[in-house]
Amino acid sequence: MEHATGRHWLNYIDGEWVDSPNRLDIVNPANGEPIATIARATTGDAQRALDAATRCAASGELTRQRPVERVRWLLRIAEEIRAVTEEGARILCLENGKRLCDARDEFLEAARYFEYYAGLADKLEGISVPLGDDYVDFTRYEPMGVSTQIVPWNFPVSICARSLAPALAAGNAVIVKSPELSPLGMCVLFEAIERAGLPRGAVQLLCGLGRDVGAHLAASPQTKQIVFTGSVATGRAILSAAAQWATPSVMELGGKSAAVVFPDSDREALLASVKSGIFFNSGQVCSAMSRLVVHRDIYDEVVADVAKLARSLSIGPGELDPDHTPVISANQLEQVAAMCKAAIAEGAKAVTGGERIESRGGFYMQPTVLAGVHPRMNIASEEVFGPVVAVIPFDTEDEAVEIANGTPYGLVAGVFTRDINRALRFSRRLRAGQVFVNEWYAGGIETPFGGVGLSGFGREKGQEAIYSYVQTKNVAIRVTQD
Ligand code: NAD
Repeated sequence: MEHATGRHWLNYIDGEWVDSPNRLDIVNPANGEPIATIARATTGDAQRALDAATRCAASGELTRQRPVERVRWLLRIAEEIRAVTEEGARILCLENGKRLCDARDEFLEAARYFEYYAGLADKLEGISVPLGDDYVDFTRYEPMGVSTQIVPWNFPVSICARSLAPALAAGNAVIVKSPELSPLGMCVLFEAIERAGLPRGAVQLLCGLGRDVGAHLAASPQTKQIVFTGSVATGRAILSAAAQWATPSVMELGGKSAAVVFPDSDREALLASVKSGIFFNSGQVCSAMSRLVVHRDIYDEVVADVAKLARSLSIGPGELDPDHTPVISANQLEQVAAMCKAAIAEGAKAVTGGERIESRGGFYMQPTVLAGVHPRMNIASEEVFGPVVAVIPFDTEDEAVEIANGTPYGLVAGVFTRDINRALRFSRRLRAGQVFVNEWYAGGIETPFGGVGLSGFGREKGQEAIYSYVQTKNVAIRVTQD
């Protein structure tokens, strides 16, 4: 951990690591202690990053050569990321509170994104359109130019790679705005990227406040595409800024995802999914299983089993790889605890948990199971972003669908049943960008991911995502017949 502790970290602009007169303290959520500082980028830094990326995009250095050159850059980046995984994971664990093993997985997943999109960088093939003998017509996929990417704190390293890899594969220059609460793992990621030897200005990393640096980047006409992952409130602000220049955007926002559970489901598989679905990363996952919609015949049993599971989780700092770790900040802890308190006041029952863990110094929330939740309660429709599952009963299939689809969000959804016909019926009827059957978080970097409704629009991951990072140009040629 020594590498992180006490170090002052910098921003990366136009091929150089640069300081700023202002700094941000980065705090360890497991004990509330400051561990390092980072230069707090200014709007001037944001403008320098925009200018550098604009120059790089206009220079043709990312697109002039055969695409295989970009394949090689991306594969080199993947290799460099693998080489810093241990170092990066330790820093990410310390600044974010997450388990060391999960922090390690983030770096490995980041490397996988670069490998995956390396495989597509030389396959962006247009089509030829038949228009008769007097014309030749074809399409080209051209990069957007400058892609501005704004990243949240919950999975900063893997979410950064998720957008950066396809953007580079398609030949864009990129500016990444890291989250104020957890920017250090991304600095290690960029140190690795720097070693891969991309052209100057191809990538920049800024840690600044959302309201000034993020807002400046989103509102700039030099930004030719915005990829935002974060809350609905910030997404709205960014979309308003983007409207000024009609800047194309990908919005990966929040969720209130439901798993529908039938009596014929495999209980062991369900409980394994609940463990990862709502308690992984202390519930700070956009696609967390924050609602469990359970058939009334097994409702009491499932509530009891899930509560037993929640009580059995080992709790501690991320370095020890326990089951359950702190949330990111004192503020987040307060919000999660307040939402639980309000739900209980509305009539929900905390079968277990419901409060912060007072006996620990850091920002620990009790793993919480709320029963007796009615679909109209706030806790059943608003994102908590903490280790809190609301368990709601249903009687009929139609009712289950109505409850599951009854929020403004639609990121992921799930169904647990052994009946294949019912599983397929639900996969069609559930309103979400991704449906899991019998395993929460089934899928991977190869499967398209994104939301409907307030969960956003555009898709990340999979082959489909790369088309968010290009624009189609049609070339129509009149041929003279001599
Ligand atoms: P947030 O919206 O507070 O911040 C996200 C990023 O936006 C940060 O880098 C922040 O500095 C920046 N920002 C804030 N105000 C800005 C502005 N006015 N202009 C430009 N940038 C601005 O979100 P968070 O608290 O970091 O993350 C939690 C949220 O992210 C949750 O709602 C969660 O569901 C969502 N999320 C979604 C996905 C997904 O893929 N759909 C993944 C992870 C997290």
